[in-house]
Amino acid sequence: MNLADSHCHLIYKGLGEQQPEVLTRARDAGVVAMLNISTREREWDEVIAVAEREADVWASVGIHPHEADTHEHVDTAKLVARAAHPRVVGIGESGLDYYYDHSDRDRQRASFRAHIAASRETGLPIIVHTRDAEEDTAEILREEMGKGGFPGVIHCFTASGAFAEIALDLGFYISISGIVTFKNARDLQETAARLPLDRLLIETDAPFLAPVPHRGKTGEPAFVADTCRFLANLRGQSAEDLADATRANFHKLFAKTLSSPVIPAKAGIA
Ligand SMILES: [Zn+2]
Ligand SMILES: [Zn+2]
Repeated sequence: MNLADSHCHLIYKGLGEQQPEVLTRARDAGVVAMLNISTREREWDEVIAVAEREADVWASVGIHPHEADTHEHVDTAKLVARAAHPRVVGIGESGLDYYYDHSDRDRQRASFRAHIAASRETGLPIIVHTRDAEEDTAEILREEMGKGGFPGVIHCFTASGAFAEIALDLGFYISISGIVTFKNARDLQETAARLPLDRLLIETDAPFLAPVPHRGKTGEPAFVADTCRFLANLRGQSAEDLADATRANFHKLFAKTLSSPVIPAKAGIA
């Protein structure tokens, strides 16, 4: 299988300390593309550095909704400037999280709109995190889409089938995480089984959300193979076909991955 993990956090605790081994296990499992996602400004340099080092890893720049309160200074211009780096292929993750409410909701919405503007300006997809905030997420996406189109993905999708329809209508992709393998995820399984193949991505959100049969362990990109097999079975297709389709979708959505060479290490630096 040749797989793309559309969303992981390779510098987070649990993965950062053993990154070479994590990448080796991912490659052994057939993972050929990984998107290393940032959630705070102070992660940007390191997330990009991994993508400079590794030919099969790309980076995003963004501020997680949890962090919106502490990043009022990160505006569209700042995001656009960092997104000019050849290995940065997406904007985010950004969005709304009303489950934890770690940041003020007005601040979350303002940050989300700033990220959308950066996506529109750069043409890079926005990676949307949404939890217990379907209505506002849909409203902002619709309203902003009216001002000018932008590509994107709903990451770690756990929302309703109705929200999936809205996202698909707006041209968005939907990324399914290991949550789909959980026993209590019946609704998500029903929605995921019906999603159009040409809009589907898969992800680990590692180090979080390790899928069955790894539940409770530190998640890592290699486990995207387990989610792929489970989802393929659910959809009545072969894991190979689903891997191929979701990998092709990944490169179609994050089209900059096809044209962003790894920056060679400077001479004299190991
Ligand atoms: Zn997220
Ligand atoms: Zn994430």
